[in-house]
Amino acid sequence: MTVVPERVKVTIRCKSCGERFILKGRREKGRIDTGFKQCICNNDTDFEIEPNEL
Ligand SMILES: [Zn+2]
Repeated sequence: MTVVPERVKVTIRCKSCGERFILKGRREKGRIDTGFKQCICNNDTDFEIEPNEL
């Protein structure tokens, strides 16, 4: 059985400055991979990640 990565649109909200980013990611084995590194305010750990099914 082959697992095809599911494409998802992800809304990432920075809990530090409130900035929102909308990215395309892939859901693999229950994990979401967006390649997102850090916010413009240098926060790289404290985010609210919300997947939106396409
Ligand atoms: Zn931020």
